[in-house]
Amino acid sequence: MDEQKRRKHFFSLKLKWALGTALGSLIISLVVIMVLFSSFTQDLLSQERQTLTQSLVTISQKLGKSTSSELTVAKVNQTLKDNVLTPEGNDGGTIYQRPVIQGLSDGHLTVTVYDQSGKELFSTGKENQGFKKVSTQTIKMADGKNHQYLIGREPILSADNYRMIGYLQVENNLDNYYQHYRHLELISVLALILVVIFSGLMGYFLSYFLLRPLNDIQETVEVLRDDPTKDKRVPVTSRTDELGELAWMFNEMIDRTQRYIDQQSQFVGDVSHELRTPVAIIQGHMQLLQRWGKDDPKQLEESINAALAETNRMNTLIGEMLDLTRAGQVEVNFRNATTHVKKLVNQVYDNFRMIHPDFHFSLDDDLDEDLLVPVYRDHLEQILIILCDNAVKYSTERKEIHLSLSRNMQAVEIGVQDFGEGISQENLNRVFDRFYRVDKARSRKKGGNGLGLAIAKRLVEGYHGTVTVESQLGSGSLFRITLPIVEASDK
Ligand code: ADP
Repeated sequence: MDEQKRRKHFFSLKLKWALGTALGSLIISLVVIMVLFSSFTQDLLSQERQTLTQSLVTISQKLGKSTSSELTVAKVNQTLKDNVLTPEGNDGGTIYQRPVIQGLSDGHLTVTVYDQSGKELFSTGKENQGFKKVSTQTIKMADGKNHQYLIGREPILSADNYRMIGYLQVENNLDNYYQHYRHLELISVLALILVVIFSGLMGYFLSYFLLRPLNDIQETVEVLRDDPTKDKRVPVTSRTDELGELAWMFNEMIDRTQRYIDQQSQFVGDVSHELRTPVAIIQGHMQLLQRWGKDDPKQLEESINAALAETNRMNTLIGEMLDLTRAGQVEVNFRNATTHVKKLVNQVYDNFRMIHPDFHFSLDDDLDEDLLVPVYRDHLEQILIILCDNAVKYSTERKEIHLSLSRNMQAVEIGVQDFGEGISQENLNRVFDRFYRVDKARSRKKGGNGLGLAIAKRLVEGYHGTVTVESQLGSGSLFRITLPIVEASDK
C-alpha cells in the first residue's frame, strides 16, 4: 500500500531533468528570439519609414519644380505620369528610372496631392485619412482597418519662389511590413517549439545515460531489501565521475554491512556455544543434587564449588565479550588519547615480576627517551597483560619471558617472547580469531576463553597499529606489537 502510494507520487528524475532542460532552453531561446525579432522588425519599419520620407521628398520636389503659381490637375498628372522617378543624387542615371506614377503604384504607397485650399488634385488610391494642413514634413503611425499604417504629409513649395502651392500626402499601408512580421512570428514560434522538443528529448536521453548508475543502485537496493544476504552489487564500469564513485562506495558499504551481519550472527553462535558448556555443567550438578546429593555433604560441597567456578567463568566471559565489543569502537571513543609507552611497559614488567616470582622476566628497553603513542593508557596495559598472561599460561619448563621495546622512524615496537609450548604453523593465523583455542580443553583448564588475542588485535588495529606472531611448536612464541609514534616526550 505504502509502496503504491510512493509510486504514485514518483516523478522520475529523467523527466524532471528533461523538463528543466526544455524550460531553460525555452527561456534562453525566447529572450534571443525576442531580441532578434524586435531588432529585425524595427529595421523593417525604419526602412518603410525611409521609403515614405524619400517618396515625400522626391514627389514634392518634382511638383515644386513643375510650377511657380498654382498646382492644377493637369500639371500634377503631367509631372507624375510623364516624368521619371529618380533617386536623390542620381539625376540622369538610368537605374531606378520609371514614370513617377508607376513607381508609386508598385509599392504600397497611396499618394494624394491637394491644392492650397485642400482640394484633391491627384490620388493613386483611396486614402485612409483626409486632408490636413501641415507647415513641415510630418510622419506618424495611425490606426487602420486591419493594422496600423504610416502617414506622411508635406507642404509643396514652388522651386522658384518657395511659395506654398499645395500639399502632398503619402500613406504606406505597411502590408509588406506586416507580411514579414507575421512570417517572422510564425518562424519564431516554430523555432521555439522545435527548441523545446529537441532540448527536452536531449535532456531525457542525456539523463537516461548519465543516471543509469542510479537505476542500477535502485535495482540493487530493491534486491537487497528483500534479501540482505544476496550477492547482488551495482555494476561499476568507471569511477571517473560522482555517480561511478557513489556506486563503488555503495558496493563497499554493502560489503561491509554484510560482513558485519555475518560477524554478528557468528558472534551470537559462538557466544551461545561458549555458554552452553558452563550452563550444562551447572545444570548437571543441580540435577545431581536434586536427585540424591542434598543429604550428601561431600556431593553438596563439590556441586556448589563447580557451580561457583562455572559462574565465575561466565562472568569473565561476559566481561571479555564486552571488552571485545568496546575494542571495536576505540577509534571513535579514544581518538585523542595518548600514552607514554616506556613508562607503561616498565610498569607492566614490574607488575608481572612481582605477581610471578617463579618466572624470570627480562626487559630489553632500547628507547633513550619516552615516546607518546596514540593509545588510551588502560588499553595498552590491557594488550600487554593479555600477551604476558598468555606467555605465562603457555610456558612449560623454561619459565622465562622476554620483553623488548624499540623504535624506528615512525613506530614503536613492543615484543613479548616466551619459550613455552609454541603454536603450530596451521594454528598461527587463527589464534587471533574469536573463541579460537589450540587445545580447547587445556586452555579451558587454564581459564582461557579464546578471546584475549582477539581483543588485543582489535585494540591494536583500532589504534592503527599491527600485531604479529612468530612461533615454533615446542620452542616458544614471539608476539610483536607496532604502534605509530605521536611525538617524543621528556617524561
Ligand atoms: P585464551 O584465553 O584461550 O588464552 P587467547 O585469545 O589469548 O585465548 O589465545 C588463543 C589461543 O592461542 C590460546 O588458546 C592458545 O592456544 C594460543 N596461544 C596464545 N598465546 C600463546 C602463547 N604465548 N604460546 C602458545 N600458544 C598461545
